[in-house]
Amino acid sequence: MTNEKEQSLAIAEELKHKFEALGYAPTYSLDENAVLNICIGGDGTFLRAVHKTGFSSTPFVGVNTGTLGFFQEISILEIDKFIKNFDTGDYDIEKLDLLEGRVFSKEHKQYIHHSLNEFVIRSQDTSIIHLDVFIDDNHLQTFAGDALLVSTPSGSTAYNYSAGGAVLYRSLKGYQLTPLAPINSKAYRSLLNPLVIPSDSTLTIKRRSEDKSPTLVINDGLNIVCDNFDSIKIKTSDKWINKLQFNNNWYWLNIKDKFI
Ligand code: NAD
Repeated sequence: MTNEKEQSLAIAEELKHKFEALGYAPTYSLDENAVLNICIGGDGTFLRAVHKTGFSSTPFVGVNTGTLGFFQEISILEIDKFIKNFDTGDYDIEKLDLLEGRVFSKEHKQYIHHSLNEFVIRSQDTSIIHLDVFIDDNHLQTFAGDALLVSTPSGSTAYNYSAGGAVLYRSLKGYQLTPLAPINSKAYRSLLNPLVIPSDSTLTIKRRSEDKSPTLVINDGLNIVCDNFDSIKIKTSDKWINKLQFNNNWYWLNIKDKFI
């Protein structure tokens, strides 16, 4: 999969020819029997590809033609090295956990979504949202503020990081609840800091009945407007995706390069 940038399309053609020369049969369409999904572009291209394949178990690799690349390990200068290393099996596979978000409507209908980066729960009209938050069966807080953001370890460097969340190394088990502009006053007591939740716990976020505007659930940047939203139950999914990793130091080099 590639974004529409001229450079990405040219890289896609180059990869196609080079893989064909080694006896592979690359296609631009999705193929369940593929040995590799290549995403050419930025992190957004990687996210879209993962969603489009329905979180395929075929490994993914990202070739970076964007500015930031947290999923996109291969730079355009390293394409020949990447092809050689892939062909000789010189790589590791990273398992990236996903979140499962089960949205319940007031009519008790359920809609299941998966996210690689994060879910954000806010009101569609940007008014203050009031949410009851439970971890397993324990009521933790009644949140009031802009939104609650729930991120995976690999999503912790995205929106979560901008919202003051911690960076969680990708293989850590668990997920993070981060408040966006929480109100802390005599009227409301919200946790001001992010909370890391173990992967075997379920987080339930329920809209308070006094809120009247529709709820917006944002999944990896894609908006889901929920008119009759009652609650969302979030946990670490039983599904995951596989990502090729060529350089074990890349994660920390990238953090330093992009953030510091
Ligand atoms: P976009 O084009 O607006 O990209 C947003 C930025 O997020 C890009 O710079 C991208 O490189 C970066 N990004 C995405 N995933 C990342 C990750 N795992 N680690 C570090 N950086 C990452 O939107 P898009 O391409 O559709 O991407 C959607 C993502 O944008 C969402 O999942 C969300 O995390 C992020 N986002 C961030 C903010 C913010 O930081 N204030 C606000 C909205 C959305």
